[in-house]
Amino acid sequence: PDISPRRAGAEQKRTVALTHPDRVYWPDAGVTKEGLADYYAAMWPRIAPFIVDRPLALLRCPEGIEGPRFFQKNAWKGMNAHIKALDDPASQEGEHLIGIHDLDGLMGLVQAAVLEIHPWGASCRDWERPDELVMDLDPGEGVAWAQVIDAARQVRERLEASGLTAFVKTSGGKGLHVVAPLKPEADWETAKAFSRTLAQTMAADHPDRFIATITKSKRHGKILLDYLRNQRGATSVAPYSTRAGAGAPVSMPLGWDELGEITGSAQFTVGNAMARLSSLRTDPWEGFHAARHPLCG
Ligand code: ATP
Ligand code: MN
Ligand code: MN
Repeated sequence: PDISPRRAGAEQKRTVALTHPDRVYWPDAGVTKEGLADYYAAMWPRIAPFIVDRPLALLRCPEGIEGPRFFQKNAWKGMNAHIKALDDPASQEGEHLIGIHDLDGLMGLVQAAVLEIHPWGASCRDWERPDELVMDLDPGEGVAWAQVIDAARQVRERLEASGLTAFVKTSGGKGLHVVAPLKPEADWETAKAFSRTLAQTMAADHPDRFIATITKSKRHGKILLDYLRNQRGATSVAPYSTRAGAGAPVSMPLGWDELGEITGSAQFTVGNAMARLSSLRTDPWEGFHAARHPLCG
């Protein structure tokens, strides 16, 4: 019997009706709204742990990647009922953030023309203690892809020297993200200070290759080690999220052993993601949720 996630998901997805299913979101890749719904239904078991019950910022493109786009951090009027308004316990204004609890919620996002999903690095179970650390590697002009790979390996080494386990993914844009799952014990200040020190130490050791702050020096030819994903309210794109770029790229989890064969950040797309994942014997991020270590500040 076919028990692949694709089939199971495809059956569930019909609970949220899509208007204009034939609307084209990525003209060059031929991906429609319905195609996006099919992609996320198939990816649901993989993406769910990274997007359920955490505040989400959304990139919405009602007319697809060639039309206007806006980054949405707050719940809006007329939002699909499966998308949930979240109360930020620290907010004075009483503004509502955006969350989802289930596949219907994800389909609600598709219905709302969400082409990128950007979660916080903390779950709603504990808003003040991040459960992951993200090092965002942003190559400047003229940086060879091999250098980006090398930077990711160096970040991994440094994270592991601190007792953390590191995982890598394409961003689906230009760079790579190195992610360390955390036991949510340390607060945001500690996470930010830790990742800032990591970035600054790495930049000090290789000033010709890395910079830790965009203002400090020209980015040309260097990789910005963007540690600012690790502060309260900051987001980074979710693993398996699509990107609103040419070719319908996705942010794809990778195994460290395959990183050397990856040719670029936008290599994996809505069109080839499922075939790639089906051909692997194991999940590229197997063990992610079991590898949570406390961050010692
Ligand atoms: P790339 O590999 O091309 O750098 P990226 O997703 O890492 O892709 P960045 O420009 O480094 O892109 O952005 C890092 C994060 O900042 C994004 O993942 C996103 O969560 C957040 N972000 C992006 N656009 C906005 C925006 N308009 N407002 C607030 N935060 C944003
Ligand atoms: Mn980046
Ligand atoms: Mn960045």
